[in-house]
Amino acid sequence: MAKALKFGGTSMANADSIRKVADIIRSDPEARYVVVSAPGKREPSDTKVTDMLIALCNEPSAGGKRRLLSEITGRFDGIIEGLGLDLDLSADYEVILGGEESDSYDYIVSRGEYLSAKVLAALLGYEFVDAADIVRFGRDGRLDDDKTQRLASDRLRVAVKAVVPGFYGRGADGRIKTFSRGGSDVSGAIVAKAVGATVYENWTDVDGFMVCDPRKVKNPRIIEMLTYRELRELAYMGASVLHPEAVFPVNKAGIPINIRNTFNPSAKGTMIVCYEDLERGTYKRADHVITGIAGKKDFVGVSIQKEMMNSEIGFCKTLLDVLYEKRIRLEHMPTGIDTVTLIIDPTGVTDETLEEAVMEIRERCRPNTIEVHKGLSLIAVVGHGMSNTKGTASRVCGSLYNAGVNIRMIDQGSSEMNIIIAVENEDYDKSIAALYGEFVG
Ligand code: ASP
Repeated sequence: MAKALKFGGTSMANADSIRKVADIIRSDPEARYVVVSAPGKREPSDTKVTDMLIALCNEPSAGGKRRLLSEITGRFDGIIEGLGLDLDLSADYEVILGGEESDSYDYIVSRGEYLSAKVLAALLGYEFVDAADIVRFGRDGRLDDDKTQRLASDRLRVAVKAVVPGFYGRGADGRIKTFSRGGSDVSGAIVAKAVGATVYENWTDVDGFMVCDPRKVKNPRIIEMLTYRELRELAYMGASVLHPEAVFPVNKAGIPINIRNTFNPSAKGTMIVCYEDLERGTYKRADHVITGIAGKKDFVGVSIQKEMMNSEIGFCKTLLDVLYEKRIRLEHMPTGIDTVTLIIDPTGVTDETLEEAVMEIRERCRPNTIEVHKGLSLIAVVGHGMSNTKGTASRVCGSLYNAGVNIRMIDQGSSEMNIIIAVENEDYDKSIAALYGEFVG
């Protein structure tokens, strides 16, 4: 039996936190495969090692580079000294600016994880397994899942206990390549799948996944258990603890994720499990209607009205063609008999492109009216518990009515695990608070 554990940047930030990491690992005989991030912030004003490495890459002068490198190596030496370790990383420091791949941005930026893993491996007496040997990217720059799984399981099978750096692997050209920021979560998932872990413990600095954004509601409740499907809905709407790509490898393999807090290890955290396992009773959770609430601001609504729209074949297809041609992402499309509203995510769309799209719709669809409404927020109320539960939509609407919020749109998928509502941006905060109050506490 083996677990895969990933420790994030705050857990690896200094000697004190790394001692906590080591205690967690030593207290659990199943904790055999560990993935680490680079040291993160020690306090809010601090700089993450990854950001220091990025600054090093962007520094034009040789003198400046040397100064930045010595700040970075100073952080590692401080950690090594604080841990009382007999470890000399000077040969590794040397090759950062003077080695074969020193001209590569990804190589330099990945060195935080590389050194961090070396330190923890030395502290625990675990084997150091370089991510470059087990994680492979394809020619398209995306993770080569099959090759990675083959390499990782072959290599890790012969390592009884190992520490692996997160965040990077090797590209199709043989050079070091990183994931996007926060990518050590993905590395942790890869390792968990490769070793057939019983659980993927993702150790961070919060007690778990919260029911809603703690900036909107003070101390929201921690979700004890959520399914991968619920996570997908909540994460899509902006709730984030994990890198989105970290979910697929473990979900596919049926491995649960347990979000834990390095600084409060007695808290059970949040378990993320497959819906089927919940259905089968492998996992049990307390009955509730709503698992989580998440939302995002600044959507655009385009409301279109045309007499006899319902009998015009291809009307909606033309609308979608226009959006497709203008590369505009559609989020929702609630329709009436003679009306339809396009709820659009305007990220990366200029005002000009939006105007062109509206003109195009005017020309090709000849509507009676077309109105653009900016500043809409979408809120998702998510939970398997609402399926076959009467009155959920009524409670959503009632709580918003009591808070004095006007609902601009409401949409419930037939899966009945998600109600999406659109409200004005200025009503966003009070809507989240009202929904939390109604369903949670
Ligand atoms: N160190 C990288 C970052 O700051 C990757 C990670 O921590 O997951 O994004």
